[in-house]
Amino acid sequence: SHHDTTGRPDPASRGPALPDAAPLLELRGVRKSFPRPDGGELLVLDGIDLTLREGEVIGLLGRSGSGKSTLLRLIAGLAAPVAGSVTCLGQEVAGPPPGVAMVFQSAALFPWLTVLENVQLGLEALGLPPDEIRRRSLDAIDLIGLDGFESAYPRELSGGMRQRVGFARALVVHPAILLMDEPFSALDVLTAETLRTDFLDLWAEGQLPIRGVILVTHNIEEAVLMCDRILVFGCNPGRILKEIAVDLPQPRVRLDPGFRDIVERL
Ligand code: ADP
Ligand code: MG
Repeated sequence: SHHDTTGRPDPASRGPALPDAAPLLELRGVRKSFPRPDGGELLVLDGIDLTLREGEVIGLLGRSGSGKSTLLRLIAGLAAPVAGSVTCLGQEVAGPPPGVAMVFQSAALFPWLTVLENVQLGLEALGLPPDEIRRRSLDAIDLIGLDGFESAYPRELSGGMRQRVGFARALVVHPAILLMDEPFSALDVLTAETLRTDFLDLWAEGQLPIRGVILVTHNIEEAVLMCDRILVFGCNPGRILKEIAVDLPQPRVRLDPGFRDIVERL
């Protein structure tokens, strides 16, 4: 595969073409409020401007209730802003846009389906031929380190492995943009570290079919480790208080394979 000097994938080598220097994602003046039981409005997001550029990982760091998940839902087209615009891959978002996938805090797998079947579900809406669905799903499972567990049921997997299935289910659609809503925060610290590092390695090696990432977290170290820029959210209403550029060499971390083996046996 193609790499630039940072070790990041060459944007020209994959995904739909965008006009020169067009951002993957652009939010302008986004406001979101919810009706309150007393008849008033709860203003959750106020005047959010955000630009995700090709090859970037942006972190959204903020306290609980600052509107981070709401912001991801607006980007994923699961809710609409009351003012402002969300433009994704050159198109204004009105409903779930193609090219965007999400990973949540809990993998929320169907317990009666195998790993392969859970991952295949991610592709069902795309109307691909069955052999293509199977091949792509097996590739995603392999990529995220679950080779050999295709036929396992969620109850047979550890929390970390279940979250890997959550990642595979998102990656299998080959999203241009991956939205991650605290995907490591339900895992114990060692498991979280292993999964984060695997993700960073795949990203640095250009193996992920994605072009940009938004990572929601309330873990400062995780934001610094994983992101190129961190947007710090304030509460009531949610707004971006500060933007912090992270300037660390890539790739940032490589876990000793011995450490990984030990963690997996704990
Ligand atoms: P965060 O992810 O930063 O913890 P959220 O986006 O989940 O924050 O929530 C921000 C605020 O919006 C909270 O006060 C929450 O109660 C409120 N909120 C979120 N979704 C809804 C909804 N569908 N209806 C009413 N209030 C909501
Ligand atoms: Mg949240």
